[in-house]
Amino acid sequence: MSKQKLNKQQKNRIFKLQNSIVNNYKATNLNHGLVINHFGEFIELIKTDSDRNILSQKKIRCHLRGKITDIVCGDFVLWQDSIDDENNGVIEALLDRNSLLSRPRPYQDPKPVAANIDQIIIVISPVPEPITNLIDRFLIAAKDASINTAIIINKIDIFDNNRKQKEELKEIELLYISLGYKVFLYSSYKKIKENQNFLNILKNKTSILVGQSGVGKSSIINNLIKDEKSRVSNISSSNKKGCHTTTSTMLHQLDISGQQKKSAIIDSPGIREFGLWHLNKKNIIDGLPEFKEESLKCKFRDCNHEGSFGCALHEAIEKGKINPSRVRSYKHIMSSIKNKD
Ligand code: GDP
Ligand code: ZN
Repeated sequence: MSKQKLNKQQKNRIFKLQNSIVNNYKATNLNHGLVINHFGEFIELIKTDSDRNILSQKKIRCHLRGKITDIVCGDFVLWQDSIDDENNGVIEALLDRNSLLSRPRPYQDPKPVAANIDQIIIVISPVPEPITNLIDRFLIAAKDASINTAIIINKIDIFDNNRKQKEELKEIELLYISLGYKVFLYSSYKKIKENQNFLNILKNKTSILVGQSGVGKSSIINNLIKDEKSRVSNISSSNKKGCHTTTSTMLHQLDISGQQKKSAIIDSPGIREFGLWHLNKKNIIDGLPEFKEESLKCKFRDCNHEGSFGCALHEAIEKGKINPSRVRSYKHIMSSIKNKD
């Protein structure tokens, strides 16, 4: 898919045009829709009302009008019926987003991948062993995007096979709970009572799963999706890894008992891992609550937190007030963005 870069004037013109379409949509008889699939050249959506409630499950295949770019899964749009085919349409305008999750790329602008996400669920498991640095990176990126997070420990059905793994995971669970994060236990293999707690946090929200390959993201999604046909991937037993049959991003609706609003989960290979190239030192500290708390006590507002006089954060680290695993993450991440202020 080639993407043409627009200059400011062109962007303004499109913005004005879209606004006028949004303002006049009643007169022009446009429909509302939620983007559930993005295949590159076309988009699949389902019809909603103007309050973003889903009206029908029928998938409408839409093309994009003119220069509307960067529509992603989870977006709400205005679209027009095709005259000759009721299963086809054209997208006329993109509606406001509550949030946008983008995948940062080195030396390029971040690539938008999913919109209107309420929460990012970080999946970890006993095997492969959790990398706390990766958890911290996700937490920082999510905080920067103003999206809530929760951590889920999957595969707890194998906990009892290995005491050491169980203890390590328990330590991680307690660490993140103590920092104020929500942590849930889950098994996509077994129906255990803990699974219900995880379902409850998915209720009425649009969520996305991120995490290392092999932790069970595809299995969790497949477990949640009742309709076999929409299952997202084939689990290859030979290499014990999920292999995605598609690289597109997909929104799956979830049917959770007691939900008032449709719950959904977005599956996207594009955001299962992401870097922090786009962030600076302050963004990093803002994404680590206990570091932020200490940094607010530094004597000077422009403190560089590198051991200068009156640096409370440096002192807290030196005195062992902050968990060593988090200090390792902090130092690692800071050194990876060294050239930024
Ligand atoms: P992904 O790469 O994160 O999408 O992970 P997959 O869903 O492909 O799962 C990786 C492997 O872990 C597969 O062999 C799954 O069968 C296995 N797996 C996933 N969830 C569980 C679970 O809850 N318990 C156990 N024991 N294995 C699981
Ligand atoms: Zn400082």
